Formats: sequence, structure tokens, C-alpha cells
Amino acid sequence: MEKIDILSLKPEELESILVENGEKKFRAKQIFQWLHVKRVFDFEEMTDISVQLRRKLSDIFCIKGLFTAKRLESSIDNTVKYLYRLSDGNYVETVLMKYSYGYSICVSTQVGCKMGCRFCASAIAGFVRNLEPSEILMQIYETEKDSGIRVSGVVLMGIGEPLDNYDNVLRFMELLSHKSGNNFSLRHLSLSTCGIVPKIYELAELRLGLTLSVSLHCADNDKRSEIMPVNKTYNMNTLIEACRHYIEKTGRRVTFEYAVIDDVNSSDADADRLAALLRGMNCHVNLIPVNKVKERSYRTARAGVEEFAKRLGRRGINATVRRTLGSDIEAACGQLRRDAINNTNGGADT
Ligand code: SAH
Repeated sequence: MEKIDILSLKPEELESILVENGEKKFRAKQIFQWLHVKRVFDFEEMTDISVQLRRKLSDIFCIKGLFTAKRLESSIDNTVKYLYRLSDGNYVETVLMKYSYGYSICVSTQVGCKMGCRFCASAIAGFVRNLEPSEILMQIYETEKDSGIRVSGVVLMGIGEPLDNYDNVLRFMELLSHKSGNNFSLRHLSLSTCGIVPKIYELAELRLGLTLSVSLHCADNDKRSEIMPVNKTYNMNTLIEACRHYIEKTGRRVTFEYAVIDDVNSSDADADRLAALLRGMNCHVNLIPVNKVKERSYRTARAGVEEFAKRLGRRGINATVRRTLGSDIEAACGQLRRDAINNTNGGADT
């Protein structure tokens, strides 16, 4: 029988499995705290549990650990990037970033990505599978252990499309914020999506208090389809409608991510279109200089981002320019995993 992934279980689920196996209810909370509060991932180290029960636990359950395959620290800004190997040999990336208010962690939600955004390195290495809730959580727990800090912000902006792994991502958030466990406030979590419209409606119903970040990158429907194939399924207007609904339902401001790309989306006409699209909406625009991906020719001149922010400002749209962190360590998502795969393939392209 395959062992159960214990870190993906809610306390009440753990409780019913334990009771089925002849154990007392209260053990569930105790074990949940060993895992999510004390961060002990070896049943043998759970010292207030009898040796007999520890044996039983390791017969029924498994704890899927992460192995640090690579750890890169930026000499410019202390950003740390981890390449983690999962228990089945696949890789994901996690980035720890330092801001004035504390640390923020960027986690992956899938091994690879199906969305195929033209400028994104994650798309190049292809999609393999969804991450389990425990594997998303472990990126945080492992990184906190390694760095000795507690993160104050979590962003689901690593490899993968969170809304394409909806159930596992929801469960991850429930576990992360569980009162009997880590008790992390979802107000400090941002979920970034390329625009899986039906899931935005579902998420709105839950009113989780998180920040919804939408990777817009273009305000022209046809051009958006060229750089983001998802737009052919859920076009820009239906996406904006879903965002308006989300804002109305949750009372939360939506963030739009916009990677400024030379000759693609940064002209005066692009600023006009973006301003018209977002006028009157309770939103915020985050401009990002596009990260260079060696297989792609997309570029941004830094001045181009500042200039585009000014253009938007003149049109009444507030935009911030996101600081580029970890530029010396290939901190853009997907780049390390792609390199790891290429190396194990003897350098063959994937
Ligand atoms: N799939 C989700 C989350 C992962 S990508 C999404 O699309 O939002 C996280 C963010 O990085 C997205 O805004 C994505 O568009 C952006 N991104 C991907 N490749 C990039 C690159 N080369 N330069 C700048 N931003 C990039």
C-alpha cells in the first residue's frame, strides 16, 4: 500500500486515519504541531510520542522531503535562490528575497508549466506534474530552516500556474494558515495567475484575503494572444471582467503585472490602451523589466520601464516599478530548472 503524504493532511483528516488505526484523537493535533510548528520531519524525533506509535506512523505515512540541489546567493542584494530536488527526482525553484519590511518567499506550484508564455523560461522546459500541497509548503519550511528566518510574505510566482493546480494550491493555503499550525495570515500572500478566468470566479467566492496578481503584460487582445497563448482561451476582456468581479466580491485591490518589453508593449499607444482598460478599477500596476531568457530575444531598457511608468502616470494610472532582485543569480523563474534538466540530458535542448 502506498504511504500517505502526511504533510498534505488537515488535522481532521489525520485524526480520522489515526482513530481508524486504534489511536486517540488528540494525537492528531500533537503530530500536526510537530510537523507545522516545530518543523520536525522525522517520526523518530517526535519525542512525546511512544516508540510504538512512531513505528506505526512510519508504516502508514511518508514525509516528502526536499533536497537542496543548488543554492545561489546574490552578492548584490542577498537574494537566495534554491533549486530543490523533489522525492521523485524532479526539480523546482524557490527564491528568498529581502525587502525593507522583511523577507518574502517566491514558491513554485508545478513542475514546469503548460501556459507557454513566450517570454518565460518555465515554459521552455515543459510541464511535468502538479506539486502536492506538502511540496509547496516544504519549500517554505526548508528555506526558513536553511536561512534561520521567518518569512513575512509569500508569493506564488515561481514555476507553474497556481490556478492550473487549484485544489492543491487551496489546500496548501489552508495548511499554511491553519490556526493549529503555522497560522500564516493569507493577507500576506499573493497568488499570481496568467488568467484562468473560471478559477478567478471560484477564488472570489472564498474571500481568502489574499492578493490576486494578474499577469497582464499587454492591453491589446491580439498582441496578448501572441505572447500569452492562454489569452486565446480566456481573452483579455473576459479576464478584466473577472478581475472586476473579484474586486467587487472581495473588496480587495487587484495587482496587474506588466513586463515592459521593448518594441512589444511599451509605446504611447500601449499606455493609452492600458489606461483605458484599467480606468476606474481598484487596482495597482506593477511594472517589471523583462528578465533576459537566453532562448528568447525579449529585452527591456531600464529607461524604458521608467518612461512607461511616466506615460501611465500622465494617464492617471499609478504604477510602481518592481526592483530587480538577484540579477546575478538567474533569479527569474524557470532558469535553474531548465539548466538542471539540460545538464542531466547531456546538454540537449528540451
Ligand atoms: N503562472 C503565474 C505565476 C508564475 S510566473 C503567472 O503567470 O502569473 C510569475 C510572474 O513572472 C508572472 O507575472 C510572469 O508573467 C512573470 N515572468 C515570467 N517570465 C518573465 C520574464 N522573463 N521577465 C519578467 N517577468 C516574467
